[in-house]
Parts: sequence; C-alpha cells; structure tokens
Amino acid sequence: MNNSEAERDNTLWRSGWYRFARAMPSPNFGLRPPGTVVDLIVVHAISLPPGQYGGPEVQQLFSNTLDWNAHPYFETIRGLEVSAHFYIQRNGELWQFVDCGARAWHAGRSHYLGRDNCNDHSIGIELEGIDGGLFETAQYETLSSLCASLAAQHNIQHIAGHEHIAPNRKADPGEGFDWTFLQQSLGWPTKYFPEVLKAVLAP
Ligand SMILES: [Zn+2]
Repeated sequence: MNNSEAERDNTLWRSGWYRFARAMPSPNFGLRPPGTVVDLIVVHAISLPPGQYGGPEVQQLFSNTLDWNAHPYFETIRGLEVSAHFYIQRNGELWQFVDCGARAWHAGRSHYLGRDNCNDHSIGIELEGIDGGLFETAQYETLSSLCASLAAQHNIQHIAGHEHIAPNRKADPGEGFDWTFLQQSLGWPTKYFPEVLKAVLAP
C-alpha cells in the first residue's frame, strides 16, 4: 500500500469498518479461516416481518435483540442467530454489523464456483426487500458505491445473489433485482457475475 492508498483507507475504512455506514456491532460472527482471501460479495434481501419496511427489526435480528413475541412471523425464526456485514434500507441508509475482516453469518449452507461455506470468503450485503420484489434506486446507489469501495479494499472477483450460492434453498434477492443496472453502475465485466446472468448482462 502506497501513501495515497493508505490515506484513502484511513478516510473510508477504520480497519474493517466502513465510515459511511452506521455501525451496530453484532455478536454473530467468527474468524475467517487463516489465509482466506475475501473475493466474493453476496447480495441478499430481507425484511421483518417480510414486506414491511422502515422498522428496526432487521437490525434487532442481527444484534440478537429482536422480540420474538412481537409478531407471529418471528415465531418461525425464534432463536435464529445470523448477521450480515451490511444492510441497506429502502432509503439507501447503510448499516454495518460485522467487521469485513471477520466472518458474518449470512450465507448458511452454500457452494459457489467450486467452494463450500461461502461465509468464509465473502462479504454479505442485505437489501431491505423481499424475494422477487423490486428495489429502490437509493439502494442501488448505496450498494454500488459500497461494492466499489469493497473492491478497492479486497481482491473482489465475484458478486452473486444468495440464490446463486444456495440454489433450491434460497431465492433472494430474486427476479426483482436488477443485475444489469448494478453491472452498469459498477462497470464490472460479466465474468464477475453468475454464469446464469450472462444472457442479460453486457459482455
Ligand atoms: Zn439471503
């Protein structure tokens, strides 16, 4: 790292914490395996209860403070201990729960490009939304600048949805997520994206 890179690093990141995110440290994380290169970004969708936006429930879930009795849906996930590195609300507001140097618990059982346990080598980004639903322009803007900043920080080679790394088990972010728009905002080549998206993405 040369001087200007170090300066930029200090401006945007404090160790693995992004300056433009609201930090809410989660207890749900672990160490990455020694020598891991973080090269994958995983995009998710979540809302609690599903389809209801703007509340604090997702942040509460990731920090183990959700009141399981507050809604019937929460019964179905009672005791769940999960996290993501980042969460982007409908208005584009960005939250961070886990240091990017650590392993967040977002992918679960997963496999992508020959490797299992994608949590080991990925950054997890949750978008407030539902599987198959549309997302807001403000969310794409935040996501795009976050991905660019992550790529400047890590050796990012791939970006995929949860549905691509856990097919048949997960469907987020789903059909409503505009991968073409994200690709255009990022200017990343098609090879960074899942093979199944090749037909809709620019070469
Ligand atoms: Zn997911």
